[in-house]
Amino acid sequence: MSLKLFNTMTRQKEEFQPRESGKVAMYVCGPTTYNYFHAGNGRMFVVFDMIRRYFMYKGYDVRYIQNFTDVDDKIIQRGKVEEMDPLALGQKYIEEYFKDAKELNLLPATIHPKATEHIPEMIEIIQELVSNGLAYETDGDVYFAVDHFPNYGKLSGRTLEDMKAGARVEVDERKHHPMDFALWKKAKPEEPFWESPWGNGRPGWHIECTAMSLKYLGSGFDVHGGGEDLVFPHHENEIAQTEGYLKGQTFAHYWMHNAFLTINQEKMSKSLGNFFTIRELLAKFSGEVIRFYLLGTHYRSPLDFNDQNLVMAQKGLERLHTSIRLAQEALDREGSSSNEQIEAELFKAAKEAREAFEKAMDDDFNSALAYAALFELAKTMNGCVQENPAPSEALATAQKTLLELGGVLGIDLLHSVLVPAANDETLKQVMEVVLQIRSRSRQKKDWEMADFIRDALKDKGIVIEDTPQGARWQIRGN
Ligand code: AMP
Ligand code: ZN
Repeated sequence: MSLKLFNTMTRQKEEFQPRESGKVAMYVCGPTTYNYFHAGNGRMFVVFDMIRRYFMYKGYDVRYIQNFTDVDDKIIQRGKVEEMDPLALGQKYIEEYFKDAKELNLLPATIHPKATEHIPEMIEIIQELVSNGLAYETDGDVYFAVDHFPNYGKLSGRTLEDMKAGARVEVDERKHHPMDFALWKKAKPEEPFWESPWGNGRPGWHIECTAMSLKYLGSGFDVHGGGEDLVFPHHENEIAQTEGYLKGQTFAHYWMHNAFLTINQEKMSKSLGNFFTIRELLAKFSGEVIRFYLLGTHYRSPLDFNDQNLVMAQKGLERLHTSIRLAQEALDREGSSSNEQIEAELFKAAKEAREAFEKAMDDDFNSALAYAALFELAKTMNGCVQENPAPSEALATAQKTLLELGGVLGIDLLHSVLVPAANDETLKQVMEVVLQIRSRSRQKKDWEMADFIRDALKDKGIVIEDTPQGARWQIRGN
């Protein structure tokens, strides 16, 4: 089945045709690292991670690049507040990003390039733009000349005239056109800077994505993504400078943008102050629940944030998890099923779930509709297990299908952690001791005590799992 995706550039769903057969090259604009990331940013990361995983499920080899903007005005300002060197502050929040990303089950990018490590590449592109007459220097700053790029506005569907009339553009004598944007900014006192042909300074925001995407993916790559606020000006400017630099070659083929996570219909954003960081949410909900919530609405529809919606997501996830567990309990029983009718029903349900899941995801990654396929399969499994709680190939197939399709969305239904555990330090320490006691009992072959500890904890909702690396524990919601 062919995969269709909505291309912001053409404003329609298009059939996906990769640049290179069997491969997908994707670039996603990552965070500006001056704080923990908030749930709105989280939506963007989770959405593109889901898109990446579905490409993988379709058999593509995906090269996924997500940058870190680790120098900019906001980082410099925040550095003053935290009394930290801005570049060190950027590094600190990169490390924090990876902690939250792990909780949300985001696959690490193939490469996570940092802006500060690609300054020479940016300078080279800016020099080329200056020598081609697409950019000019004024007093240590370098600007891109938007009216020298014929299609400026093609992504956002605006014309330069509209922009001039509509936007309150501050008059800046140094610019030739009010919409011209900075490629290079002259250094201000006490700010980080790099040497350049135009004197000491630092790059403008947009140029970093041109430099890093071209370096790691080359021109004409497949998917360029980000939140919808990036359509204009960030992506518009990326296109102008990149296609100007490439002398008209296409920069990227498919432009994908997720809608906002909102609070009271307003964009969740750091600047408005109406945000919750993922770190804060993790104290109340597990990463898995947050992820499940964020994918429960199609990525191009706005999603309103409130605790109640997260609680609902937790309940939904619990239902799927329960089906997996009930099936497992039946599969662990002695004997085998001889109920052909139920087995036929399970095989059919597994097949139909996969078909419905693929149909939904092939239609512009409709994860919300894909959920319906999972719930339908879970419901059939529950009914069948209740009627005939016995092991069968059909039940194993149904369970495997549910686990696999959940996994495509980045939801691990087998090990679902429904209630956050990682944040309670005392509990962690106590559990460490409990596991040591159990391990000693086992060494002494005191199986009764070891089993008692495991079963007693299970009664309290804490599940111990023995792995080759030792025992692990998790809190289960049911
Ligand atoms: P920032 O760190 O602000 O540059 O944002 C990182 C990414 O998150 C960008 O792709 C933004 O478009 C995206 N983003 C920011 N706020 C939201 C939001 N409320 N909902 C969805 N995506 C967002
Ligand atoms: Zn970008």
